[in-house]
Amino acid sequence: MSFGSNLGWTLLFAALAAVANLIGGVVLIRQRRQDRPFLEVVLSIGAGFMLAAALLAMLPESLAEVDRARWGTVLLTFLAGYLLVQISEHTLVRHFHFGEETHHEEMLGPRVHLAALAGLGVHTLFDGASIGAGFRFSQSLGILIFLAVALHKLPEGFTMASISLASGRSPKAALGAVTILAAATLIGAFGAGVIPGELAPYALAASAGVTLYVAASDLIPEVNASAGVRCSILVFVGVALFWATRELLGLAGIGH
Ligand SMILES: [Zn+2]
Ligand SMILES: [Zn+2]
Repeated sequence: MSFGSNLGWTLLFAALAAVANLIGGVVLIRQRRQDRPFLEVVLSIGAGFMLAAALLAMLPESLAEVDRARWGTVLLTFLAGYLLVQISEHTLVRHFHFGEETHHEEMLGPRVHLAALAGLGVHTLFDGASIGAGFRFSQSLGILIFLAVALHKLPEGFTMASISLASGRSPKAALGAVTILAAATLIGAFGAGVIPGELAPYALAASAGVTLYVAASDLIPEVNASAGVRCSILVFVGVALFWATRELLGLAGIGH
């Protein structure tokens, strides 16, 4: 397989995802309160969709494009992607969780704000890289990954703006922080779009690890923290939505 760059598609879809970050941030800054039911629905469906995208599309596609002898390296890259988010969001950062920041200012000093921004910055860099790496393989994979990313971009912008305000920053600074996340998404997409083709399977595997982390370790705990089983059921809806979208893309002839 030769890896085309598809840079136009990559940048278009990455820009759409980045805009969702900004919208999430602006909604939070404007409302100054959470629209919890809506966010829970988006988070839950997003978690299921991302889980399926990481395990049924991104990882298998990256393995399919390398010799069997290199599978160990690809899987190590996958694990490294997963652990990179553990480091950036939860090791260097002592306080981070998805959704609205409801904790007190004492807990969220300036250092926490900066650390959360850096942690989410690494994560969003890979949101973009996922889209860029996907389009190196096929249009359908690029679109599927874009949807997986887009589904959690609103809550992500919301989360960042929320941390900014809760740590005493001005609305303008909060918008600045969200803009940095949006820019990181674009930079990641561009980077994955222009790396040498032989690195594309590894970029996709690392992105799959990041996607798995965001789905299973960032979003699922939020789903489980919500009352009732509705959100939990929506995770399965997210998986089904992924499957249906992939079938539809195949029927529409958008593939390799
Ligand atoms: Zn908190
Ligand atoms: Zn993200």
